[in-house]
Amino acid sequence: MSPMYQAPRGTQDILPDDQPYWRMVRDKVEELARRYGYAWIETPMFEATDLFVRGVGDVTDIVEKEMYTFRDKGDNSLTLRPEGTAPICRAYVQHGLRNRPQPVKLCAWLSAFRFAAPQTGRLREFHQFDCEAIGDMDPALDAELIDILWHLYTELGLSAIAVVLNSIGHPAPNCRPTYVQALLAYYTPREAMLCRECQARLHRNPLRLLDCKEPGCQPIADAAPRSVDYLCEECAAHFADVRHWLETFGVPYQVSHRLVRGLDYYTKTVFEVMPAREGAQSTLGGGGRYDGLIEELGGPPTPGVGFATGIERIILNLKEQGIPPPAVGRPDAYIAHPKPEQRGDAVRLLGQLRAAGISAVLTPPDKSLKAQLRHANNLNARTALVIGEDEVRDGSVQVKFLDEHRNEVVPQAEVAARLVDQAVNPP
Ligand code: AMP
Repeated sequence: MSPMYQAPRGTQDILPDDQPYWRMVRDKVEELARRYGYAWIETPMFEATDLFVRGVGDVTDIVEKEMYTFRDKGDNSLTLRPEGTAPICRAYVQHGLRNRPQPVKLCAWLSAFRFAAPQTGRLREFHQFDCEAIGDMDPALDAELIDILWHLYTELGLSAIAVVLNSIGHPAPNCRPTYVQALLAYYTPREAMLCRECQARLHRNPLRLLDCKEPGCQPIADAAPRSVDYLCEECAAHFADVRHWLETFGVPYQVSHRLVRGLDYYTKTVFEVMPAREGAQSTLGGGGRYDGLIEELGGPPTPGVGFATGIERIILNLKEQGIPPPAVGRPDAYIAHPKPEQRGDAVRLLGQLRAAGISAVLTPPDKSLKAQLRHANNLNARTALVIGEDEVRDGSVQVKFLDEHRNEVVPQAEVAARLVDQAVNPP
């Protein structure tokens, strides 16, 4: 017997029943991209491994544990993209997009790959909507990106969500190093009280101790020094402006000194949006400013700010909050014909309707008229077009308007025009 294959662990098939949710989110992000002036970009699904090691940072969970890295037959080390920002910045540098008017505002719908323990809302292949505004320092852009996320979630109908904001300053020369020193001075005497992971990270990436989820580390992280108290003048002014613009846009937020994000490229502003309910762990989306990333990738010093939001997480929250997607995929016409002799007329009509822009399905052969009409109802078709013996003889069709329980007999040649007239689903 041949083996029963399953989708690989941590991946999922997106079946037709779930597609209306995907369509709903996709339509909304396309509308937002248009409203906020972001242009679509697509980058390859894999990149040189070094792009992520340099870009995301070698002391991050993603690079240390989660990358799908492989050698191709040309002995190149490649990695399935674990995130979208580094590839988009690579494309910005490679294609000289800095010669365009700045900022260059880009967005993408992409699949991303991370090898982590699968659980609800955590997959090994997942999808993101990314927005990036590259080439401008303006704090209004940081606020604009948070505003897009806020509108995305609330316009989809999600409620009880919280925006969390922080500033982690510049990596060099001023505020971040001073802050890291303060963190080390605070944490070192408490080292023995920390979880293993925090102990391992203390001297390699002390910022990450702040977002540890271990219960024993919580009170220690809560009382740790705050990055906002160590910001240089420029970073402090930037943060104040971001807050000002958020207030102007009417986006509610709270500042949390424990928000640091898991990727190394962030500078100044960082943000996350999460479900506000008790115990909810899963961030819906997050991002921040990355003013050093493009230089790190070999480009000229270029500021940037962006976010990524997980599509599967949005859909999970839509389902949890009982928000249904709009119905899609309703056929305009279902052609029913009980006998093989009627098939010629049925197929001809099918061709005419589709050519006229009407969505039409033809019944499978060898079913009774009753079974065919039941099938039409199951598919939620707007009309059933019956071609029986009389209709073949007269060159007509019996049009059943299923919502209105009303029938009409129409010449076959006029059905397409009649359905368009009735605005069943005007093309
Ligand atoms: P990150 O780049 O880690 O900040 O991720 C951005 C967003 O992508 C998160 O807020 C999630 O919505 C989503 N995301 C990240 N990792 C996963 C995953 N393993 N499975 C599903 N969604 C994810």
